[in-house]
Amino acid sequence: MPRLVMKFGGTSVADLGRIENAARRVAAEVEAGYDVAVVVSAMSGKTNELVGWVRETAPLYDAREYDAVVSSGENVTAGLMALTLQSMGVDARSWQGWQVPVRTTSAHGAARIEDIETANLDAKFADGVKVAVIAGFQGLSPENRITTLGRGGSDTTAVAFAAALGAERCDIYTDVDGIYTTDPRVADKARKLERIAYEEMLELASLGAKVLQTRSVELAMRYKVRLQVLSSFEDLPGTLVCDEEELMENNVVSGVAYQRDEAKMTLLAVADRPGIAAAIFGPLAEAGVNVDMIVQNISEGGHTDMTFSCPVDEVTKATRALETAQANGEINYAKLDADTNVAKVSIVGIGMRSHAGVAQKMFKALADEGVNIKVITTSEIKTSVLVDRKYLELAVQALHDAFELEKA
Ligand code: ASP
Ligand code: MG
Repeated sequence: MPRLVMKFGGTSVADLGRIENAARRVAAEVEAGYDVAVVVSAMSGKTNELVGWVRETAPLYDAREYDAVVSSGENVTAGLMALTLQSMGVDARSWQGWQVPVRTTSAHGAARIEDIETANLDAKFADGVKVAVIAGFQGLSPENRITTLGRGGSDTTAVAFAAALGAERCDIYTDVDGIYTTDPRVADKARKLERIAYEEMLELASLGAKVLQTRSVELAMRYKVRLQVLSSFEDLPGTLVCDEEELMENNVVSGVAYQRDEAKMTLLAVADRPGIAAAIFGPLAEAGVNVDMIVQNISEGGHTDMTFSCPVDEVTKATRALETAQANGEINYAKLDADTNVAKVSIVGIGMRSHAGVAQKMFKALADEGVNIKVITTSEIKTSVLVDRKYLELAVQALHDAFELEKA
């Protein structure tokens, strides 16, 4: 039998009615001849509640017990989904992560899947079971403790099962009906993409299009799992995340992503010497600051300016790390300047690899709107700029228009 993985996110299993609605979709695929692995999230809001209870009980919690508590939301939905399918006459059985088992590293709260042993499931499918309902987000550490895969980790569970089971496709049912050229709340001309390449989705996912956990896209790309994002509430075609060979449109730019709450930090007049970048970014890394863009200026008189961006809520952490390094004599700068009113806007597209003038077109579109660019970085398939946050919407709309993303 061909196999399919169907993943339902929290809003798609938020109550019994929605679980029934999801189960109906599963039953239809069974009817169509598939053996199905259904991966479920916890009911929406449940994981947040569990995390809250852990923090309230023990602010400096033991990560192993955090996982024991926080993984439990998925157990409930897995069992309820199996029961619902059974009541529809579908032969279904549920599995928690440890029962499969889904083997992971022991990094509690952010474990990575190392291996999925599918022998149990294969035997059940061979026995005539039609649906294996899997509690997403969970795994088993080498020490035989329950682990979780990080927030949003059920996406990764789903992709990993699709790879391990050799599924034809991995369908991610969610509360949006696909991947858009940009956030429809920001630009009403945003258009749903029929297809998008893994690389592009990775850039969009990490740039703040929060539909898929980044790790799940990395896995899909590595194992060439065809991923479809679609609505569990409406019968609409979704977006297929696939290999670039399978793309049909060839727009140079596929999407405009943004990150609203960024900060720009500049170290002025840093003594320029070999090892200075390591001396600055070492302490930031140790402090757990997520540094994104980095720009070093030409130096004058043995001094240079170093600028980087990070999330606004990490500015205090970053400042403390740099001031400590300065006090310890590890670095030497004249002034630390933090601009907490910036946002990042990026254009993404694999077509950028082979087209010249894309960045220039971006800069021109922003200039025409009078939007000043504060920092620029580029990679093979992406160009990002920092702009004042108050211009974010304007910048996104201007770029969407300039690259005519409303047209297929
Ligand atoms: N329930 C987990 C979370 O809310 C995992 C998931 O839904 O993907 O992060
Ligand atoms: Mg999610």
